[in-house]
Amino acid sequence: MYENPILVYRSMFLPRSVKVKRTAHEDKSCAVKKTKLSSGGSLLEDTNEFQDCRSARTETSASRCSLHEVVQEHTEPEAGDLSVGSTTLGEGSRNTDEDCSSEEPIKSFSKSQRWAEPGEPVCVVCCRYGEYICDKTDKDVCSLECKAKHLLQTQAKEKNLKSDQFTRAESQAETHLLNTPYFYKDHSFILGLQDEQIENLKLQLGIAVQGQQVPRPIIEFEHCGFPETLNHNLKNSGYEVPTPIQMQMIPVGLLGRDIVASADTGSGKTAAFLLPVIMKVLKETETPSALILAPTRELAIQIERQAKELMAGLPNMRTVLLVGGLPLPPQLHRLKQSVKVIVATPGRLLEILKQSSVQLHGIKIVVVDEDKKLFKPPVLVFVDCKLGADLLSDAVHKITGLQCTAMHSEKSQVERTDILQGLLQEKYEVIVSTGVLGRGLDLVNVKLVVNFDMPSSMDEYVHQVGRAGRLGHSGTAITFINNNSKKLFWDVVKRVKPTGTILPPQLLNSPYLHDQKRREQQRLKQLQNSLVTGDNIMDIIRKHDKNNSQR
Ligand code: AMP
Repeated sequence: MYENPILVYRSMFLPRSVKVKRTAHEDKSCAVKKTKLSSGGSLLEDTNEFQDCRSARTETSASRCSLHEVVQEHTEPEAGDLSVGSTTLGEGSRNTDEDCSSEEPIKSFSKSQRWAEPGEPVCVVCCRYGEYICDKTDKDVCSLECKAKHLLQTQAKEKNLKSDQFTRAESQAETHLLNTPYFYKDHSFILGLQDEQIENLKLQLGIAVQGQQVPRPIIEFEHCGFPETLNHNLKNSGYEVPTPIQMQMIPVGLLGRDIVASADTGSGKTAAFLLPVIMKVLKETETPSALILAPTRELAIQIERQAKELMAGLPNMRTVLLVGGLPLPPQLHRLKQSVKVIVATPGRLLEILKQSSVQLHGIKIVVVDEDKKLFKPPVLVFVDCKLGADLLSDAVHKITGLQCTAMHSEKSQVERTDILQGLLQEKYEVIVSTGVLGRGLDLVNVKLVVNFDMPSSMDEYVHQVGRAGRLGHSGTAITFINNNSKKLFWDVVKRVKPTGTILPPQLLNSPYLHDQKRREQQRLKQLQNSLVTGDNIMDIIRKHDKNNSQR
């Protein structure tokens, strides 16, 4: 009967039958009702319907009977199948078998079903009269439409359950991974490299190390054997490959070695120490387990944010931020919530330790992130005009990303005060100024002055370079000099040479400089000649007498 594979195949797309409920006196009609239902299942050929009618049998319960599945093979309707299924079934329900013609057709749509009388079963989907029982779930439904919806809902629930179970299984796998001890060892790929290859790699990446048995750098994060969640978090943060400081520092940190690391600002140092810290505290039970000290609030906030990103989804990995300028009670409260990692500024940490009973006995790792950039004194750059100050300040900011501002006579008093305060509070990393900042002010924290334009007089030059290294501190001045200030060449050399500064050959070989030097020597000679000394006094008198006698 099912020889034709196409028929069998098509039957697989039939929706399930619904079971028909009947009261005891209606039991005899169940089979007929079921036949209608199976014809309602629809795209079946006659042979199928016939088969379905024959396969139907009754099942009696206390108050009702139900029909079993009509079609042997079937699939659950997919979400997109709902309307298709309903329509087909609706059509089918009109197409009743002749034997069943006396029977009321199975309700295709919920709206054609009546509301339930008190005590009658209620449709699980729409709450109308639950005339039928879904053979798949044994739930009361009112129509084929609601049966299809009900099956879809059930299917969705099952799917959710499965994915929950999958997630649970995944997290169990993760927990298992977290419970197994983690020991860093060189990845087989790294081990397979030759010493020269490693040295060449380090050379090219500018990695320089000191110390005993320093492990080889990693080349990819995957070489660390991190838990999947951590690898995922790295990708999420956009960390595709480690930066050079991370390549070398992560394996060292994962081995639990002490490190003093130095790399440029923005080179990825934070993640370089955070990743080993995360792996070390992951299995710690005593809390807090790690303390990260940062010199400023901004840096602490940044570190904690990055730590959270990398720890997301890892079990029991809470952080706390302890910084001034934010209310203390919430920070204290959070600190007591079994946090694994503290990110703090020293001031706020001491304040908390002094006044609270918090113990930090669990701390095994201390990281001090001392970003040199934040302590670096600002650079003062002198130019010779307002437009130059504005343009250079913008250019330096755009190219280097440093916080820059311009200072000149067109800035209002409010702006000037703000700039000066910003300079003292290290809000600005570079100030480009005309001569207005050249005199008087004690800019104690300026250590570097750049004379981008050489001033027009030595007097001004001396004042400008004097902004660096005030109050006995040493400082540095870098002066750009060209032929525009050729009249000062010899003066500059005289001034700067005694400090031991190596002067550029272009300056030392300049004809202007030699000319100035020669003239000065001549002037000196003249001056010397006009001076009265014991050696020349008789000559001067004689000369004087001679001149007088000639008159
Ligand atoms: P840091 O030097 O730690 O302040 O990092 C500078 C910036 O680089 C931060 O925005 C980090 O999120 C980002 N960063 C750190 N490591 C990587 C990496 N391996 N790949 C891409 N970005 C990174």
